[in-house]
Amino acid sequence: MSGLLLRHARLGAAVRDVLLAGGRVVAVADDLPTARGLDGLPGGTAVVEMDGATLLPGLRDEHVHLQQEAENRRRIDVTAARSPAEAAALVAAAVGEDAGDLLVARGFRDALWTEPADAAVLDAALPGRPVVLVSADLHTAWCSTPALRRLGLPEDSGVLREQEAMAVYARAGQVSADVLDGWVLEATDAAAARGVTAVVDLEYDDLLGAWARRARRREGGPAVRVRAGFWEDHLERVLAAGLRSGDPLPGVPDPVAADRVRVGPLKLFVDGSLGTRTAYCHRPYPGVAGPEAHGVLRTPPDRLEELLRRAGAHGLDLAVHAIGDRATAIALDGFAAAACTGRIEHAQQVCPADLPRFAELGVVASVQPRHALDDRDAADRHWSGATGHAFPYGALVAAGAEVVLGSDAPVAPLDPWDAVASAVHRSLDERGAWHPEHSLELAVALAAASGGRRAVRVGDAADLVVVPEPPADVLARDGAAGLRATQVLGTLVAGRWTHRSASLG
Ligand SMILES: [Zn+2]
Repeated sequence: MSGLLLRHARLGAAVRDVLLAGGRVVAVADDLPTARGLDGLPGGTAVVEMDGATLLPGLRDEHVHLQQEAENRRRIDVTAARSPAEAAALVAAAVGEDAGDLLVARGFRDALWTEPADAAVLDAALPGRPVVLVSADLHTAWCSTPALRRLGLPEDSGVLREQEAMAVYARAGQVSADVLDGWVLEATDAAAARGVTAVVDLEYDDLLGAWARRARRREGGPAVRVRAGFWEDHLERVLAAGLRSGDPLPGVPDPVAADRVRVGPLKLFVDGSLGTRTAYCHRPYPGVAGPEAHGVLRTPPDRLEELLRRAGAHGLDLAVHAIGDRATAIALDGFAAAACTGRIEHAQQVCPADLPRFAELGVVASVQPRHALDDRDAADRHWSGATGHAFPYGALVAAGAEVVLGSDAPVAPLDPWDAVASAVHRSLDERGAWHPEHSLELAVALAAASGGRRAVRVGDAADLVVVPEPPADVLARDGAAGLRATQVLGTLVAGRWTHRSASLG
């Protein structure tokens, strides 16, 4: 078994040699070749001089939508639009004359717009053109009239939310699975270049089939470990195949690739999102009356409990999307009633009384710190009076909850340094931190972005990242912006380089 010797790596305050073999960290010591003699190293051990660069546990992104991330990297970006007309004008300015194929743009945030999105606005700016705009939070689709016609949908305002929106996204892809697979693998390369060693993919698709196909396509598979999640409509098929979370995906002969792609969690939805005003909350949304004044309950509690019980009993991990405080309480109730545990995805509002229940039930809070910064103004408006318990990372950690970090890419950048910086300092601009009582200490945030690992230890998986200097030094000198700009020199998954800059050894 060949090995890899990382010479003179900085681990905390010390500079040591680190030996990797068989996918694990097998030794950490001063001057290993002298201590063991070169004969004591596994045959064919490669040596890389680290020159005092810092070695950290590999970073993880616990919540991504990789297919949409891959597509969004190529889509017209309307994030900057402050009104429907501006969004339409941005699309019109970015496209040529040639009408025809369905055009997809991304990133609009209408929570602070004073006028509603409407098909008529797109029709006026892009006459005759089938256009779909995907909202930044991935919970709204805004279609032009020709797009509605193309998709066989009723010709109305063209604004679809929740399940209907996600069905439109799934049908709006313009490229073959083959091309898309190539793009997704490129997106894993980009993630590895930011130090990511593992992701949980929660895309709306037949992800198990898609990831088995992608793992066969490239020797060694994707550049990150992937836990391929699946939605409720695939549950019976997964159960019939006898698959459990953590199992390798069937049909991947290459052992390196097979180790990387595994069955992930069942993804369930309790509610919608803040940006779409469908997060399910105790307080009504200001100015909203009627049955959706408190948001949208996508899965009723009894159905949720039944699904959790059935999937949990078959060894499947459970990832429950809950954003509003009422939805978070329902998700916790569901885990308690079904006598199983899992993760709550987002947990953007948590009532103080519910905080200790995470630790009591062993439920993990899977959170995306960048959302707190992107949505602070929307939250101040639509969750007015309830922002004291919004994005409450500090309170969750203080209550003993296990917190893990992610991006929800493409909703936020697929970049754990951005997630860590956002958790540490809750502001993206010159304003002070938003509810600084809920920020995390750097060491806590880094551990939450590293699957709980705080140091490189013998016996750990050789999933590692190399950066020029300790993150604490960067934060002390350059603040959160410096952390965000962290240069990643190298990334290893099971002791194999998935990213390696020229400056490294
Ligand atoms: Zn998501």
